[in-house]
Amino acid sequence: MTTVGWPYEDLDVAALLASGWRPTPVQEVIVKVHQRCNLACSYCYVYTHADQTWRDRPAVMPPEVFTSVALRLGRHARRHDLKRARVVLHGGEPMLLGATTLGRMATELRAAVPAGFRLAVGMQTNGVLLTESGIRELNRHDITVAVSVDGIAADHDRFRVTHAGRGTYAAVCRAVEMLARPEFRQGFGGLLCTVAPDTDPVECYRTLRAFDPPAIDFLMPHANWAAPPHRDGLGPLAYGEWLIKAFDAWYDDPAPVPVRLFESVVDLILGGRSRSEQVGLSPVALLVVDSDGEIEQIDALKSAYPGACSTGLNVAADDFDAALSHPGVVARQIGVAALGDECRACPLHRVCGGGHYAHRYRPGAGFRNPSVYCADLRLFIGHARDRVVADTRALVEAVTA
Ligand code: SF4
Repeated sequence: MTTVGWPYEDLDVAALLASGWRPTPVQEVIVKVHQRCNLACSYCYVYTHADQTWRDRPAVMPPEVFTSVALRLGRHARRHDLKRARVVLHGGEPMLLGATTLGRMATELRAAVPAGFRLAVGMQTNGVLLTESGIRELNRHDITVAVSVDGIAADHDRFRVTHAGRGTYAAVCRAVEMLARPEFRQGFGGLLCTVAPDTDPVECYRTLRAFDPPAIDFLMPHANWAAPPHRDGLGPLAYGEWLIKAFDAWYDDPAPVPVRLFESVVDLILGGRSRSEQVGLSPVALLVVDSDGEIEQIDALKSAYPGACSTGLNVAADDFDAALSHPGVVARQIGVAALGDECRACPLHRVCGGGHYAHRYRPGAGFRNPSVYCADLRLFIGHARDRVVADTRALVEAVTA
């Protein structure tokens, strides 16, 4: 395992604790209940990036491992007197387990947490295996469903394909339209779209919006300084320009759908907090449990190097508390102290936060670097700031005139 550079060599967790800093308890657990996938998306960080450890893990999380996850969550909630948390049933593709099994898992999780504890259970799926009866079963168990859709059909079908190379847009459309129906809508979690800079961002936003989802999130493709984002045939700021056009389509929409990344950027510009891992300096209180029970940092780190998300802990033997002093987990909870000199000197750092932690990785130096998307983020956040500041100034002038 490559653990060179910050935080592994230089972050003194003992000194932080001695100074009075305390970790934020875990508020979200992503559980890899099915390690394999029925699709072969071209950009998938699990199967196509540096870390190939999925090959050695169980295809399906064994029941005793899942029971340990539930018990560890219950213990964590009691120890920290938590009132709420969220579990995301994830993969691979969780629907390969079937809705009945997923429903049983939700029941087991809820039985393990204290009375009165608000446990939200969600699932992130590619949508292909969702049927009406499956959605009904997930609804019955109060499992919200978020679906990955990459904009218009032609774009989605370039990236999100079966192992035989066939596009999946038609199947996903059917699933999303079912989720949007009034009888299922309370279980519709939203849409997740990976940014592709050679697509039309306005058409992408409007296509996703037409599904009438409760929320949309745009995710930058996972990349770092060793494996930079695809820019062949594109301008040097193509990702930033894409985000600006999508942001403007959303910002100028008279009835916008909540877009987590954009709402977080606006909130941060106005002095609030982020709800997105991609921006801001809020502590990230999220852990992942892989199908063999290993407690991991964030699975996006699989794009950095083999073993990058490992904590060396497993739910069979370890509580979630043990992970809270792991340098990689601490690094995502200490805000500005995790940023290098270049980011700290950047006027946008309180909004940008250095970008997604996984995108800061540079071999030999670790994670205390600007994002590999730094120039794109500067462009996009600068644009969003200018629009929000202009509107806020106009509003203040109007009410104080
Ligand atoms: S824009 Fe670049 S330098 Fe500024 S905080 Fe973000 S990653 Fe760091």
